[in-house]
Amino acid sequence: MEPSDFVLSVVVPVRDEEDAVPLFLAAVLPVLRDLTPSFEIVFVDDGSTDGTARVIEAARATEPRLRLLSLSRNFGKEAALTAGLHFATGDAAIPMDVDLQDPPEVIPELVEQWRAGFDIVYARRRSRPTDTTLKRVSAGHFYALFNRLSDIPIPSNVGDFRLMDRRVLDALQQFPERNRFMKGLFAALGFRQGEVLYDRPERSAGKSKFRFWRLWNFALDGITSFSSMPLRVWSYVGAAVALLGFLYGGFIVVHTLVYGRDTPGFATIAVLVSVLGGLQLLSIGIIGEYASRIFVETKNRPLYIVRDFAGFDRALIEEKRGELSRLAVLPRRALRRADQGGEDR
Ligand code: UDP
Ligand code: MG
Repeated sequence: MEPSDFVLSVVVPVRDEEDAVPLFLAAVLPVLRDLTPSFEIVFVDDGSTDGTARVIEAARATEPRLRLLSLSRNFGKEAALTAGLHFATGDAAIPMDVDLQDPPEVIPELVEQWRAGFDIVYARRRSRPTDTTLKRVSAGHFYALFNRLSDIPIPSNVGDFRLMDRRVLDALQQFPERNRFMKGLFAALGFRQGEVLYDRPERSAGKSKFRFWRLWNFALDGITSFSSMPLRVWSYVGAAVALLGFLYGGFIVVHTLVYGRDTPGFATIAVLVSVLGGLQLLSIGIIGEYASRIFVETKNRPLYIVRDFAGFDRALIEEKRGELSRLAVLPRRALRRADQGGEDR
């Protein structure tokens, strides 16, 4: 095959990244231009409050292969990425962070593996030297726990940076859940999976928006959406506690028969009450984690709401309006504007 006869989409969720966008484009555009004339970069503005959209619009003046999808508010990186993937038109798509932590030099290697026949090509971190110890250790534990609980293992040290073939994108679009634990979703897809190793560098500009609580909730989301083990384990815990209770009851009966009544046993009761109370609250809390997610899913709200399109083909938006009617809200006004030659502003 000629090196140029494929379309490659790079999908970039951005939130308050006006400093990082120019650096990103300066690094990525040369790589893409070398690779294929028919590429596109789909930016998803995830409710930025700074000049991110303006910076991207300005860049669009010199590079028409940039597209911008603006969401109506901050929906979070996972939803933003989902939106971008929905609107990627390439034969393959690569999600990337704008902070250059996903190095553009890896793109040609991903493409090479894809051309060799893999449907998903992971970019796997060789090391995590730039992450804090806390993040590194917690990530390690998370992967271990997740893979023990879930039926579908996820590869460790793999982020969203990867290449996906068109058939993977089409399959992904059929996953309607509101809770977008992308790493797990990708793993659930199957397909032929290859990988490329890389070193993860520091953020180029701005600062990371993932804080501890975010990561914690992220981990909870991941586990609850891919395993029912935390729910089921309580029957066994209950059975074990009941068994211990019977044994202890038997022991007390025998003890009383042999030695007669002894101490009032305040300590025993206090410990039993608090341990059992704690176990019960814990199990109720875990049911709550699942129930709240069922609640969210049953509301069936859109995954994201688009405020504006720039640089997209009118026919594509029209087609997506039908396909995504149950997943997303697309504006009508932008449709008219896109009508005027796929340009607005
Ligand atoms: N991001 C986003 N929405 C958010 C938070 C982050 O679209 O609510 C984007 C951000 O602009 C960047 C990418 O997601 O392109 C990764 O974010 P970040 O570098 O803050 O995360 P980390 O690398 O620390 O995991
Ligand atoms: Mg980052």
